[in-house]
Amino acid sequence: MSPRPLLFLLLTSLLSACQPATEPTRIEGRTMGTFYAVTLADPFPGGQQALQQQVDALLVKLNHEISTYEPDSDISRFNQAKDALAHPIPSDMAKIVEQGITAGQVTKGLLDVTVGPLVNLWGFGPDKRPVKTPDEAAIAAARERVGIDKLHLTRQGEQFMLSKDHPDLYLDLSTLGEGAGSDAVAALLDKAGIQNYLIELAGAVRSKGHNPKGKPWRIAIVDPSDKPGAFQGIVTPKGMAVSTAGSYRNYYELDGQRYSHIIDPRTGRPIAHKLVSATVITPTALEADAYDTALMVMGPDEAMAFAKARQMAVYLIVKGDKGFEARYTPQFEPYLAK
Ligand code: FAD
Repeated sequence: MSPRPLLFLLLTSLLSACQPATEPTRIEGRTMGTFYAVTLADPFPGGQQALQQQVDALLVKLNHEISTYEPDSDISRFNQAKDALAHPIPSDMAKIVEQGITAGQVTKGLLDVTVGPLVNLWGFGPDKRPVKTPDEAAIAAARERVGIDKLHLTRQGEQFMLSKDHPDLYLDLSTLGEGAGSDAVAALLDKAGIQNYLIELAGAVRSKGHNPKGKPWRIAIVDPSDKPGAFQGIVTPKGMAVSTAGSYRNYYELDGQRYSHIIDPRTGRPIAHKLVSATVITPTALEADAYDTALMVMGPDEAMAFAKARQMAVYLIVKGDKGFEARYTPQFEPYLAK
């Protein structure tokens, strides 16, 4: 899969070129088939090299736990087990699975971390792209293996355990991995006493304090038209996490039809409505990353109703006849830069 460009543009790099108040520390790298960048307005203990080593080690460890692209990761070993036994899993992975199960219950299965067989059937997992559109029988067979009710997270003392009712259940935490990674880097920086930072891991962003110019961090929601540098809105996160899911980057066309990587478990098919981007602001990137995908499954009207009912800070971009229209909840307004 080609690396997914960031769904946000970091605007501080585009702002006036006045000299930063402090020399920023910035590292970049690749993880989870995409990119990350960490910018600090404070020095890191041990300098840039120590920061790069510690962040990369943390992300490699996370991949060893939840990457379905690594055949011997904890998640892959769980998916390969064809039994109903309770398998021990690392506590970090358990926290991610727990968020997936909670969001699955709250969204009545629209976010479903067991949706992997459908994701793979439509070619958005580690397997190859299909050469022909999956037929009804293949979709039905894959759907039979899906359902958050088939997955069970338990504890034996301090040890988290995971089990499944269907031997071919396939756990896919792709929708949560970036948020989990962004939160883990934030925890590392907090522990090191860093007060001013911005973390972007694909579409999942965490920030704290101010940018190297002493101003609030400002990030942009990319315009789905993909015109270079075009953006829909500018967000000042105010220490909250921001995550965006979109259907306009990760897709392919087959038999004249466009298929995106967001799957509606109700139909077993990629979504086919006009909502092209959903941005969510919550205290953690893990939670925001769970709900941005769920909103994408819902479509424009259901997503807005869901967000308003829960007083969530949500920003939707809907494709209209005359271009893209932004819709956002009252809770999102305070984060929009004037
Ligand atoms: P999001 O909207 O955050 O998530 C969409 C993804 O969630 C889809 O790609 C699908 O996997 C899944 N999904 C779709 N519909 C639903 C649904 N209804 N409910 C729940 N989940 C759904 N990609 C590579 O090409 N190479 C790699 O080496 C690689 N390694 C990875 C390692 C890890 C640890 C993780 C978590 C992912 C990895 N990926 C890799 C996958 C890649 O990062 C994903 O495409 C990306 O995570 C999707 O995130 P997103 O923000 O684009 O979309």
